[in-house]
Order: sequence, then structure tokens, then C-alpha cells
Amino acid sequence: MTHRDCESYSETRVGAVTRFDCAGVRVYQVPVQNLDHYFTNTYLVLDGTTVSLIDVGFHGEKPVEDFMAGLGAVNRDFGEDIGPGDVAHIVVTHGHDDHFGMLSCDALKGRPLYMALPDSLVVADYAGEDRKWRESCSRMISEAGCSLAPDGLFPGIEFAVRPGDYDLVTVADGERIINGYGVVGTPGHTPGHICLRVGPVLFLGDHILSVTSPHQTPRTSWGGAGLAVYLESLRKAAALGVALGLPGHEDTIYSVRDRAEEIERFHRARLAELEELCRGRQSLYDLTGAYYGRHPELIGASSIGALEDGELVMALEEIKAHLEYLVDEGRLVSRSGRDGVVTYGSC
Ligand SMILES: [Zn+2]
Repeated sequence: MTHRDCESYSETRVGAVTRFDCAGVRVYQVPVQNLDHYFTNTYLVLDGTTVSLIDVGFHGEKPVEDFMAGLGAVNRDFGEDIGPGDVAHIVVTHGHDDHFGMLSCDALKGRPLYMALPDSLVVADYAGEDRKWRESCSRMISEAGCSLAPDGLFPGIEFAVRPGDYDLVTVADGERIINGYGVVGTPGHTPGHICLRVGPVLFLGDHILSVTSPHQTPRTSWGGAGLAVYLESLRKAAALGVALGLPGHEDTIYSVRDRAEEIERFHRARLAELEELCRGRQSLYDLTGAYYGRHPELIGASSIGALEDGELVMALEEIKAHLEYLVDEGRLVSRSGRDGVVTYGSC
């Protein structure tokens, strides 16, 4: 067991579960394993009158098993007496399946589900949104100057949620939900990403992570996403003056402002480097290769040629989000060739 006391909260960890006591609210962080070495942090918020769940993990047996075991640990190790039936509200920070997939689990159905547009459409119409994403992926790949078969990239999940399984409540920036919890619109990673403020805590979803810089979605892939709005949302989160940040993956953040500033510096450096790499006219594939050739540690491979198709798409998206930003700022010019490949250059 580890324990940490601060002015506005205390933190106690037993096994995999961590409890934060803040201003009369008890928050339990329950990590669930999605894939090997890949966890989503789900959070139970007990404020004395109601129990809320912030983010659920991936679909599938293992994450559900981990979540149920986590609930057991909350009762056994922290003296609570709650079961899945006590969860009265579910908030999903954004429309990625490692945050909403477990909604397929019958034990969670029948609750109000709070999400912002357009991410909530992913739950309301999973098949339609998945199709749109594959189409935009396909477009990006052909414009990037490389060949991949986007159909085989990521298998869709078996998402067993029908209309009416949840009472879907569409929320927006500035609204108060449940017992006065503040919705903070933080578009960027996805267009409808939200953080949630509960007393002295900010639930971060994938807006700010402790180690990795959250994945950037090009605005041309999902309207409303993109690096420019992401950087604005970073400043917005930093300006809230909340110290304790509880992210959707990785470790607790003890200064939201410091971490937000660090992530912004990382993107500014990447923008400058891409601008410098852009000599002559180069495709997205070339620039992605050149950038990660200099930073192989960021992709865990010696070059983009060694990546699996799905990982390559993530790398292309990441760099494309930065190139869009540079084009919007007039620092680079993009041009579409006869073969459909888009090239970037300084003029
Ligand atoms: Zn995530």
C-alpha cells in the first residue's frame, strides 16, 4: 500500500486500484487491460449521493473481467459496498473504442450515458462511423503516396449496443452534469473530446497523458479534430488551475499545467523540425519516414518500413495533423499531383 497526502486530496494505492479522497468525493482508479501492455484507466466517482463511472475500457472478456475484479478490490481493500448495479451515470470522454467498447457489457446498460457530439455518434451509429473512418483512412493513404489495404487495417469491434440501451445525453462545453460536475470541451485528439471537472480533480481522458503525447487526428480525417484546436484545448486545460489530472491511460498527473506546457513544447519542436525537413516537395509518406527516421524511439521501430499497417496509419495521421497546421499557418504549401499524391514544400 502506498499513501500520499496533499492539501486538496489524499491518494492511497492498494494493488492495482488507487483511491483519491478529494473534498468529500472518493475516486477509484481501476485500470483494465485492453491488449498486452495496454491499459485504460476507468474511474468510479462516489460523491456521497451517487456513483458515476468515467470511461469504460475496450470490449471483450479481459477488460470486463478486470473491471469486475477492480470493483471487488474497491469493496475488499477500501471498505466500499458497491456493485455494477450501483453505477448510476456513465461519462465517456471521447469516441475511441478503448474508452467506450465495454458499453457492450450488459451489466452497464440502462444508464444515462454522457458524451459530446460528434463523438457520441460513434456509439449511436457505430457501423456508419466506422465506415466513414475507413473511407477517410483510404483517402489519406492514397494521398500520402504509399499503398496499403485499409480494409485489413483494424478489424472493427463487435459493438453490441442498440438504440435505447443507454439514455444518451449529449453534453457540451461549460455544462454541468450529474451533481454539478463541469464539462470542459477539449477537442483535438477527437472532435468531441471532453474532460470532466469534479472538485479539485480533472478527468483527462486522452487529452493529456503523463508519458506519451496523445495521438493527433488530422482535421481532414475527422472534422473538428486537429492540432490547432488541440493546442488551444491544452491551454484551456492548463488555465483551469487544477493540479490533479487523472488520465485515461498511464500515470496520475500532479500538475496539469506543467504537463500541458510540456506537450505543447513537444509539438512546437516537431512543427519546426518538419518545416526544416521539408526541402523540395515531399509526400506525407516521405516526411513521415524522414521524421521517424530521426526519432525511431517514438515508434518503437528502426523505420516506418518496419511498422505494421495499422501502426503506419497512426504515424501518417500524426504527421499529417502537423503538416495541416503548417499549411494553415502559411509555413508550408501543399499541392495535389496528377497521380492524386499530395506533396508539401516551402513554396
Ligand atoms: Zn485512449
